[in-house]
Amino acid sequence: MPSTFLAIGECMVEMAPTGEGTFKMGFAGDTLNTAWYVRKALGQDWAVAYYTGVGMDQVSRQMTDFLNEAGIETGYIRELQDRTVGLYMIQLKDGERSFAYWRSQSAARCLADDPAVLSAAMDNAGLIYFSGITLAILSPEGRQAFFQALKSARQKGAKAAFDPNLRPRLWEDAETMRSCVTEAAGLCDFVMPSFEDEEAYFGDATPSISADRYLAAGAEMVVVKNGPQEVIVATASDRHAFSPAPVSNVVDTTAAGDSFNAGFLAEYLVTMSVTASVAAGARLAGTVIQHRGALVDCLEPA
Ligand code: ADP
Repeated sequence: MPSTFLAIGECMVEMAPTGEGTFKMGFAGDTLNTAWYVRKALGQDWAVAYYTGVGMDQVSRQMTDFLNEAGIETGYIRELQDRTVGLYMIQLKDGERSFAYWRSQSAARCLADDPAVLSAAMDNAGLIYFSGITLAILSPEGRQAFFQALKSARQKGAKAAFDPNLRPRLWEDAETMRSCVTEAAGLCDFVMPSFEDEEAYFGDATPSISADRYLAAGAEMVVVKNGPQEVIVATASDRHAFSPAPVSNVVDTTAAGDSFNAGFLAEYLVTMSVTASVAAGARLAGTVIQHRGALVDCLEPA
């Protein structure tokens, strides 16, 4: 049986402008973006699955169809009678993009409400991937259920990877965000923050300080991204800095971090080489940022 890379979080409907008052519907979300790239980068000896909540309506079905067509398994997804999927709309004004969200009642917010279903999904995973956004959308009880299920799956052998993806507006307050993110990091084999966020919301002076903070919380390995600057990879006993290859024509940095995480993890699961994994992450992210949009078809299937 193949091992499973299980991403957990919220996938949303994206309405992207195509002209005056017209929009193209797509699907996106940080953890989904990573799952989508991992599916392309990993061989078929790995299954890639997504766990979230959806409704029982047509647009929810279109979302699961989209995941299936990308080769992402949806068998564990919770279907809720009285909810539907979240949505965001991109609007363009004088060349600047702005985003409006309808997600406060999304089905994904209930993804941890049935701990047995959550555990069933996690217990079958080889690697569990989630983010600060996954935690932000849950209720306080949902977060505790999530941590319990994660601890129990890790005891059964699953690895865990976490991108703090700090978004204070999604949390009830910044202090809750910091304490939940720190608790999550302590339960993970890979913590993959972006320094820009850590500097803004934890006040870290350098990427190495972010790495130290997450190691102290209990993380096994911390991979700190920093845009075009060095990636720091730290464990309790080792620390290295790697420079991503320069990219001259950056078009759109959407999903840079999500795709880096995908490239890194897909490589690490196969080779366990930090050097090769940073190179794979940076190569993928470096390509993605030269194109518009989150999901860029730039990898041949492995
Ligand atoms: P996020 O999208 O989460 O803010 P970062 O901006 O830190 O993530 O970028 C993630 C990765 O994408 C970086 O580690 C790097 O490999 C690549 N990257 C991002 N911006 C650039 C850039 N301007 N030039 C080259 N690589 C980049």
